[in-house]
Amino acid sequence: MNTFNIASDEEIKKGLASDVYFERTIKALGNRCKDLEVSMEATISGPLDTWINFTGLDEVIKLLENIDVDLYAIPEGTIIYPRDANGMPVPFIRIEGKYCDFGMYETAILGFICQASGISTKASKVRMAAGDLPFFSFGIRRMHPAISPMIDRSAYIGGADGVSGVLGARIIGEDPVGTMPHALSIMIGDEDAWKLTLENTKSGQKSVLLIDTYMDEKFAAIKVAELFDKVDYIRLDTPSSRRGNFEALIREVRWELALRGRKDIKIMVSGGLDENTVRRLRDAGAEAFGVGTSISSAKPFDFAMDIVEVNGKPETKRGKMSGKKNVLRCEKCNRVEVVPADVQEKACPCGGMMRNLMVKYLSHGKRLFEYPLPRAIRERSLKELKFFIDQDQNK
Ligand SMILES: [Zn+2]
Repeated sequence: MNTFNIASDEEIKKGLASDVYFERTIKALGNRCKDLEVSMEATISGPLDTWINFTGLDEVIKLLENIDVDLYAIPEGTIIYPRDANGMPVPFIRIEGKYCDFGMYETAILGFICQASGISTKASKVRMAAGDLPFFSFGIRRMHPAISPMIDRSAYIGGADGVSGVLGARIIGEDPVGTMPHALSIMIGDEDAWKLTLENTKSGQKSVLLIDTYMDEKFAAIKVAELFDKVDYIRLDTPSSRRGNFEALIREVRWELALRGRKDIKIMVSGGLDENTVRRLRDAGAEAFGVGTSISSAKPFDFAMDIVEVNGKPETKRGKMSGKKNVLRCEKCNRVEVVPADVQEKACPCGGMMRNLMVKYLSHGKRLFEYPLPRAIRERSLKELKFFIDQDQNK
């Protein structure tokens, strides 16, 4: 038995973290199963009014590795609308094999991509709002600790500059980002807490002093400016009951520091932020952001998986499109078209070339190439995001 209320790796690999009707179906099919070769595709039912930064595929591959299936997918860190230029649902994953070899994993596969993609998409929206200013993923405390590495990895790929979680940081290969907790000020008082924090900030790390434990933000900022010659950031984690007008508060602190010749001390804000508040607080003069719950608890995308082919023949249920498909995207204008899987490329109406986004990751359960590191996937995602940022600015 597991100590905590989670599924172990082994249980997930056995197909136990699953809705029971798949297991029952496979049992009921019995011997007929070996004759049922199917292709299944994952498409999004909702939300449809936003683009998605697709992630979670790394775990799907880990789950299906060494199972006799072929796996095709759009790479992680791809940013794309759930419907193509003609309103066709975009398939993100296609699995081909005997239904009985992988049908029981449908629940787990969807869970991996629904949640991770929700988190990375939200992080990308915060990335857009923050512009070139740094923002960090601080939200693992609001979700089950067992999934903290997944949350931080998804937030990082989506565009976070760093993550607070120790395990998340290990997975993405970066140092975790931390400031100081209110607890330190409460235990030893503000001044000692600040001194201790500065003494323990390693070279290369940014020093961040949390200033709102007891004092008004403005007077605490002035005190920090008087006490210390070098501080990178003061952090405002102002409780919601004291927030009145957070933008005005930031402008006031900014002004008072500048007046005293301390423009070098920047303002980091945290507490209940999302893409909208980050945009407003950035305009007010905040220069770094700790974003928590809005990212870690981001709404999942509703992916669904459906059979689109049985024994080589296009077959699917009402409301879905049968047949295996590719997803073509124009290298010039980003137009997306879903096409039958035998089409690899075609000319775009804009004059550019549309090429297939679907990549084959597994052949009979064997990996075809080494999986990219989170840092490289994040680079892809930021490059893709740039197209949407430019589009936003041209509106
Ligand atoms: Zn084009």
